[in-house]
Amino acid sequence: MFTETLLKPTMLKKTRKRPTIASIDLENLAFNYRSVSSFIGDDTDIMAVIKADAYGHGSVECAKRLEAEGVKWFGVALPEEGIELRDAGIGSPILCMGGFWPGQETAIVESGLTSVIFSLEHAKLLDTAASRKRSQINYHVKIDTGMGRLGIRYDQVQEFVVRLKEFSHIKLDGVMTHFAAADDLSENEFTKLQASRFDEVVGVFIGNGYQPSYLDLANSPGAIAHPDCRRNLVRLGGVLYGLGGDVLPHSIQTPQLRPVMSISSRISQLSTVRTGETLGYGRTFTTSKDSVIAMVPIGYADGYPRSLSNSVEVIVNDHLAPVVGRISMDWTIIDVSKVPDVHINDEVVLLGSTSSHAVRAEDLAAISGTIAYEITCGISTRIPRVYS
Ligand SMILES: *Cc1c(COP(=O)(O)O)cnc(C)c1O
Repeated sequence: MFTETLLKPTMLKKTRKRPTIASIDLENLAFNYRSVSSFIGDDTDIMAVIKADAYGHGSVECAKRLEAEGVKWFGVALPEEGIELRDAGIGSPILCMGGFWPGQETAIVESGLTSVIFSLEHAKLLDTAASRKRSQINYHVKIDTGMGRLGIRYDQVQEFVVRLKEFSHIKLDGVMTHFAAADDLSENEFTKLQASRFDEVVGVFIGNGYQPSYLDLANSPGAIAHPDCRRNLVRLGGVLYGLGGDVLPHSIQTPQLRPVMSISSRISQLSTVRTGETLGYGRTFTTSKDSVIAMVPIGYADGYPRSLSNSVEVIVNDHLAPVVGRISMDWTIIDVSKVPDVHINDEVVLLGSTSSHAVRAEDLAAISGTIAYEITCGISTRIPRVYS
């Protein structure tokens, strides 16, 4: 028993691994932070949103680098994501933007997390947990000004504020809301309406004697496309990871951004296939000529979407090569007939760039009918993140 548990990790470490990796360029992450931060100016603080493992980029490594760059706040969705960061030594304020589940309030107090709340029940749970620890804890209140998702409705704030006064162990530190369509300039009127509802709500809090330190509305598109909505804090995810392409309007001036994640693998097998043969599950591809076909060890279990089958290209030796046939759970087939001097073990870039070509997360997203965020979030933990 003892030797077995001792042996396992050692065996894993010694074993040669599959060459499929996600490279995370922390220099580019830092570049994006500095670029966005100078675009936004000194009057507004930045909360780096690193929920969902930093959109698949690895929250601990990203947080460490961003904290070293001077980021003041981190935003996560779940308290457990915040606890992971505390365990890794992140000391900056962390906001749990999705609130917490009953039973998590003690962990929030003990880990020094800040939670949003949007119900009196949650206010009471947090207040009780804080009083048990004989402390006072900050919270941010989340207002629904038109997103139609989480938050206290903007038109029901008055009664909420009055009842909040019952709780003496929690302190209002921020008021926030979230935009529904800040990326779409044709929705500008609605974005403005959300901002004006927010201002009214803030007025109600102030009228009742509250003095929130932070007022925040804007996500990436809000902060870049709507300068008048920045207030003193913006919550940025996508732009930090260089994923501006499909969340920032194209007609406006935007900060320079660089992609942070790239995904590469290597050719495991090469075969020559005659014209008229079919490749892969469902026989969805038939060769129209004699072809050189390469197997790449990545599949939809790794988060390389099956919906890209027969419709995307990868880069081999600085040449584009099409994915042919269905992407399966562990394997992708590519046609390298037009790639000169191709060999087993040659690098295959599925996301990222070489000197002549680039495949962006936005490109993969457009083909599979989603946004770049879903692509990077979906890269599974089976692919190791390698930081540089
Ligand atoms: C995810 C999230 C953000 C970040 O949005 P981006 O478009 O990635 O900048 C901001 N605020 C809230 C409440 C979020 O859930």
